[in-house]
Amino acid sequence: MAKQFDVVVIGSGPAGYHAAIRCAQLGFNTACVEKWLNKEDKTVYGGTCLNVGCIPSKALLDSSHKYLEAQKHFADHGIKTGKVELDVPTMIARKEKVVGQLTQGVAGLFKSNKVEGIAGTGKVIAKNKVEVTGHDGKTEELEAKNIIIAAGSVPIDIPPAPVDQDTIVDSTGALEFSEVPKKLGIIGAGVIGLELGSVWARLGSEVTILEALDDFLPAVDRHTAKEALKIFSKQGLDIKLGSKVTGSKVGKGAKKGVTVEYTDKDGEQKAQFDKLIVCVGRKPATANVIDDSVGLELDQRGFVKVDDNCKTNIDGIYAIGDAVRGPMLAHKGMEEGVMVAERLVDKKVQVNYDLVPSVIYTHPEVAWIGKNEDQLKEEGVEYNAGQFPFVVSGRALAAADTDGFVKLLADAKTDRVLGCQIIGPSAADLLQIVAVAMEFSTSAEDLALTMFAHPSLSEAVHEASLALHGHAIHIANRKRR
Ligand code: FAD
Ligand code: AMP
Repeated sequence: MAKQFDVVVIGSGPAGYHAAIRCAQLGFNTACVEKWLNKEDKTVYGGTCLNVGCIPSKALLDSSHKYLEAQKHFADHGIKTGKVELDVPTMIARKEKVVGQLTQGVAGLFKSNKVEGIAGTGKVIAKNKVEVTGHDGKTEELEAKNIIIAAGSVPIDIPPAPVDQDTIVDSTGALEFSEVPKKLGIIGAGVIGLELGSVWARLGSEVTILEALDDFLPAVDRHTAKEALKIFSKQGLDIKLGSKVTGSKVGKGAKKGVTVEYTDKDGEQKAQFDKLIVCVGRKPATANVIDDSVGLELDQRGFVKVDDNCKTNIDGIYAIGDAVRGPMLAHKGMEEGVMVAERLVDKKVQVNYDLVPSVIYTHPEVAWIGKNEDQLKEEGVEYNAGQFPFVVSGRALAAADTDGFVKLLADAKTDRVLGCQIIGPSAADLLQIVAVAMEFSTSAEDLALTMFAHPSLSEAVHEASLALHGHAIHIANRKRR
């Protein structure tokens, strides 16, 4: 007889584990099926985010930042060090330890919330049935009143640069290098390419990023993208825009490494690298998760089709996270997981898709939310902009961390905050002030009238809100209208 559950979640990434835990908290008998095995062949929860995504990349970003600080910037603070040496295996092992702590943490949360973790590959075989194939090949059937598909995503492969996880790697392989590649090529100047490029550049690689598009960071406005490009280039990332990779050849023996062919405005080009990271985006991991007989609708790219509440075309089946439309971000999936759980008890929780924060965890970080200036111009929205540079922030100067700015945008008529773009230290955390403000439909004046602690980086957000109306104290005001 099939095991009975109120809810079966397929996948325990941030979307899946949030859904499973919240369902269990609400009193549903919940199981979460997970196929991921770690290097010791043990089932681990947490998905891409915890195992090979957000967390390990941030661990290496933080380690490499400390290395760079010790090597180049401690002396400015009057701190003398001996020769600063790099121990890549220890750095990688520390990252693994952080990952282990967090994945075990999810296992602990499953236990304390009474979510039943089931190891194996889940497949929806009927409206209320999931078949699980264990790692030993044995199958079992689960029956569920509700099924939540949270199968996540995997890196996209491109034929010109097939990943061998040795010379040509994807983002997962790039978190595992045992030594610093002298010359490192990266295909794709998106978020992941920039973060991984920053890690290895700080550790000493000569990094070239080949990006097919002529535009850098199309998600932010041109002014912010230009500033980011200037800062990253100054840090040593050689970002070649309008450079489409068309082929690659991996060398052998003495000729180890990879020759990459690409085309740019001057024609066909070649470049030689010791390692190449392919970071051209991710695709939904929905193949083989749903039996065709179920009749669940996917779009052309393999995303499960859902409405704003993550309901699929089949009653009782939901899909969340990277497996569905929208930005492939952990926090977006987490909110969807909680929303689906709450809606099972008829609580009308709704994800606000207009307010998904985006962050590139370089240093300085780049973070944005809501509309940017270019979008507002295109949409013909009358707006006021207030900008404040970190170079005049007391706290940023004290920390010697002065690159970037806060740019706040508000409706010219209502003063309601419409968007924010930040390049700067702790931009991710600063942006969250604006995210909360926007969630509560705050005006720029509300922010301006709020008291901010001094000295703090958050004062830059305050000053940007003051600048928006020409009242900034620490910069010359430029009245826009
Ligand atoms: P996933 O995390 O991909 O989890 C899906 C899970 O489902 C996996 O564990 C998989 O094994 C399991 N699964 C799939 N099919 C089955 C099946 N049939 N049966 C059983 N189990 C199955 N996002 C951010 O918000 N911030 C960041 O800083 C950030 N950094 C990133 C850095 C890197 C290098 C990468 C690669 C990604 C990063 N992301 C970041 C993106 C983030 O990791 C994803 O958006 C997030 O993990 C998606 O969550 P998810 O739960 O939808 O899917
Ligand atoms: P993202 O989708 O943000 O992860 O970014 C992936 C980037 O890879 C996009 O900006 C694409 O333009 C870029 N890209 C995709 N294919 C190629 C290619 N063949 N050569 C260079 N860049 C590419």
